[in-house]
Amino acid sequence: MARVHIIGAGLAGLSAGVELARKGYETIIYEQANQAGGRARSFNDAHLDRLIDNGNHLMLSGNYSITNMLETINASARLIGPEKACFDFADLETGDEWTINFNRGPVPLWVLYESTRVPGTSMMDYIAGLKLLTAGNRTVKNLFGEQGQMYRRFWEPFSVAVLNTAPDIAVARLMLPVLRETLAKGSEFSKPLVAKKGLSHTFIDPALKWLSYRKADVRFGQRVSKIQVSNNRVTAIVAGKKTETLGPDDKVVLAAPPWVTPTLVEGIIAPDEFAPIVNVHFQVEGFDETKTKTPMLGLVGSVSQWLFVRGDIISVTVSAGHGLAEKSSKEIAAITWPEVAKAYGLDPTKIPPARVIKEQRATFIATPDQLAKRAPTKTHLNNLVLAGDWTDTGLPATIEGAIRSGVSAAKAILK
Ligand SMILES: Cc1cc2nc3c(=O)[nH]c(=O)nc-3n(C[C@H](O)[C@H](O)[C@H](O)COP(=O)(O)OP(=O)(O)OC[C@H]3O[C@@H](n4cnc5c(N)ncnc54)[C@H](O)[C@@H]3O)c2cc1C
Repeated sequence: MARVHIIGAGLAGLSAGVELARKGYETIIYEQANQAGGRARSFNDAHLDRLIDNGNHLMLSGNYSITNMLETINASARLIGPEKACFDFADLETGDEWTINFNRGPVPLWVLYESTRVPGTSMMDYIAGLKLLTAGNRTVKNLFGEQGQMYRRFWEPFSVAVLNTAPDIAVARLMLPVLRETLAKGSEFSKPLVAKKGLSHTFIDPALKWLSYRKADVRFGQRVSKIQVSNNRVTAIVAGKKTETLGPDDKVVLAAPPWVTPTLVEGIIAPDEFAPIVNVHFQVEGFDETKTKTPMLGLVGSVSQWLFVRGDIISVTVSAGHGLAEKSSKEIAAITWPEVAKAYGLDPTKIPPARVIKEQRATFIATPDQLAKRAPTKTHLNNLVLAGDWTDTGLPATIEGAIRSGVSAAKAILK
């Protein structure tokens, strides 16, 4: 029977596995690490004595590939968010606080009234957002940088969160598909969503369980070091000490990161410049999540960009954090804690136990040069397709993009 070999058990590989197993395919998944999840994973942190994620991951209710996958693996209830499409912000420089509250339907009524707009912005600022439609290769800063508070309080935080790229080099148009599928469709599609207990609990554990019921063969600690090719076909996969010979109808989904894929298959080009994301998890004794008005808070005028609360852990996210990632963990905690303390009314001098995680290659950077290196699903090899957040999904490198890439890879195989 024909089998599909999937290399990489990140969300792209798992999503391809789920789609293919759904159609009755026998799958073998090779994962170099001893756990699945790749860049979206949870682990028990001994220092904090808590289960934490490698990084806070924010998703939106309009991310239909995510919701479809969770529905399939019976894990929809593990992704949570507020009833309303609300985003709380605080400007630590000026002390201003505001909430963006998206209304139902595609007409953004909230921009009509000064009381519901981002403070310091005018209706014209929102109309100027239409410039995105004809932005070409212009950067976020080039397009919106003159817009004062609209830039500082909306475009800059939004673009850095979505593109993980500094606004002076980030291609603005890559935000367009995200806006189209979420914020531009109204509140039903704009609710912020986070993993209930952790990324592994929400995505990875239920996906592996679901796959195990369908007899998927998931092989951990199996780094693929070579893909053998003959007559434009993959004929064998060398993983760990074993060489797996492919049958004549076997297929391969290569769902490895962009820095690995070109090393395994000659002739494939992938993005090769990356930006770090820094996360700091503070364990705040006695902090009560249920008493917090804002379990997710966007910050402006600070190094910290987003704060997330889960139980007594307050986590800071800094995307495109090149300068910060170069500092020591101690320095990073010392820089970000006073900002957290200011936002939540805590003592800035008492830095609680902290875990700093620097993901140096969190995503590729969204510049024209790097976007041109995104590869299509199909390759020059007849039985090998690609998946991964870096492939040409049309979306930024996100969970939604990774899962969608897995679905596209599975569809290409089913064809
Ligand atoms: C800190 C951080 C914060 C983020 N925040 C957000 C967010 O808020 N919202 C959002 O949507 N996205 C966010 N992202 C992006 C998101 O995590 C990624 O887009 C997504 O996880 C990528 O999945 P992937 O399967 O494409 O790649 P990966 O997760 O990199 O998976 C690739 C897998 O292949 C395995 N592998 C590599 N080489 C081999 C080999 N030779 N043999 C076998 N296996 C191999 C790896 O171990 C890995 O498991 C964030 C990323 C990071 C790092």
